[in-house]
Amino acid sequence: MVLDDVVSFDAGTLAMACTDEQRVAIRDIVITHAHLDHIAGLPLFIDDLFPILIEPIRIHASENVISLLEEHIFNWSIYPRFSELRNENGPVMEYVPFQAGQEFAVRHLRVLPVEVNHKVPSCGFVVSDGRTTVAMTGDTAETGSFWNYVNGLETVDALLIECAFPDGLAELAGISYHLTPSAMSRELGKLQRTDCEIFAVNLKPSYRDEIVSQIGALERGRINILEVGRVYEW
Ligand SMILES: [Zn+2]
Repeated sequence: MVLDDVVSFDAGTLAMACTDEQRVAIRDIVITHAHLDHIAGLPLFIDDLFPILIEPIRIHASENVISLLEEHIFNWSIYPRFSELRNENGPVMEYVPFQAGQEFAVRHLRVLPVEVNHKVPSCGFVVSDGRTTVAMTGDTAETGSFWNYVNGLETVDALLIECAFPDGLAELAGISYHLTPSAMSRELGKLQRTDCEIFAVNLKPSYRDEIVSQIGALERGRINILEVGRVYEW
C-alpha cells in the first residue's frame, strides 16, 4: 500500500503495481515482516531504478527483518546485495532500522510500529500526517497491544485489518497465524472506537468471494473490503 504517493507500506507487488509517478516518487518503504508476499516486489523495484537513483531507497524495518532480507534475498544468490552497491550518485539502498513501540518519521509521516502476533516477527503500524491517522495490522492472528495503542489514539480515520482465510480454513489460519472473518470479528470486538472506517485487507485471492460473503454476514457495523488498485481518500 502506498500512502500519499510517496511512502510504500510493504512491497509485495510494488514493482509491478505502482504508477510511473509513484516509481519516481517512492524512496521509502516500510516493511511489516519478511514473508515473501510482503517483499516480493522489493528487489525488482530497486533493480529497476538502480541507474537513475539520486538518493538511496530507504528500507524501514526491524533489525530482525533486515537480517532476514540480507541473509535470504539480497545475498548475491537470489539477488544482488544492494546495500553494498552504488551508482554514480551514491548508495542505492540503505536500511533504516526501527524498534517496535518507538515512533519514527518517514517523509511527512509519523509511524508507530506495534508488534503483532504472526508466525514470524511482525509489526502493525499506526501512521499519521498530523491530520489523518491510519492504523494497519499487517499479518496477524489474535493480538493484544495493537488494540491498546489504537484505542488510546485521539482519532483514527481508517483501520486496515487482515482477513486472509475463510472460516472453513480456520485450522490453516491458526497454524499460519492469520485471521478468518470470525476471528477478525473477535479482534474487532477489542476496538473501543467508532470513528474509523474499517477495511479488510490481505484476502487470499482464491477465497476472496467466500471471505467477502462471510464478512458481509457478520453481525457488526460495515466492514469494507480494500480494493486493489483503488485510490482512497482519508
Ligand atoms: Zn506473513
